[in-house]
Amino acid sequence: VTCGKFWDMEAIQLMQNLLPRETVLFIADAKMSFDSFRSSMVATVNSKTIITVNPGKITLQHPHHQKEASEDPTGGFSQRNSITDVYTVNQLKERAKEQSEPLYGITYSFISKFDLDSSVSKVIKTRCSKCKFLVTEDMKSCTNQLCPGREQPLSTTTGFDLLVDFTDHTGTLQACSLRGLVAEQTLGCTTDEFITLTDDQRTSLKWKFLLGRCKIYIKILPSPRMKSGLRGMILACTLADPGEVKQHMTKLLQEL
Ligand SMILES: [Zn+2]
Repeated sequence: VTCGKFWDMEAIQLMQNLLPRETVLFIADAKMSFDSFRSSMVATVNSKTIITVNPGKITLQHPHHQKEASEDPTGGFSQRNSITDVYTVNQLKERAKEQSEPLYGITYSFISKFDLDSSVSKVIKTRCSKCKFLVTEDMKSCTNQLCPGREQPLSTTTGFDLLVDFTDHTGTLQACSLRGLVAEQTLGCTTDEFITLTDDQRTSLKWKFLLGRCKIYIKILPSPRMKSGLRGMILACTLADPGEVKQHMTKLLQEL
């Protein structure tokens, strides 16, 4: 690709800050077409497109994200490029139970539970920056007895904090966390933008994901606290390309 067409205001602003031949862009869900005027392939960006700048270096669009991404071990942007193994939901569960290390994988599944249209307090939450315990802004100190910062004034981070279920023909993985920057990239909006959406807009955002098969990058850890014995963290989620789904599903079905 030698050239991109960018119509979205946020994307245009982003593109203006790029350095030619220096900045690397990771672009998911862009429309590719041949432009006869330029005699080359051209990428067109729309509202579904996710653009990550310099994915290996975790250089992100908004300065306030940098801290969050480096703090959050599930930020996942550097991890994502190295994840290539595709699994069914059942394979993910079986393999994750067999090993004590985290399992990383890709699954092409439907999101079967996504409570985006419940109250904002259930979608966006505030946690203690030190121990990630749920807190409220008005608290003076963290309520977690084991928090390393209990003696200090409470410092908090607020962000998307959702639990989603995803399902394919082999089963469902419940209550996977979709948080922070990964959630912003998935939804295509920041928490500030999300708060301004009407109920109808939030419902249609939710249905965009409920109706289509998604490509989900996931990290799964053993967790005795969870009913399933597993805790899933979504590292990236986009609506999947139907051609790509067909190719992988044919392969997975042959392995059954
Ligand atoms: Zn704490």
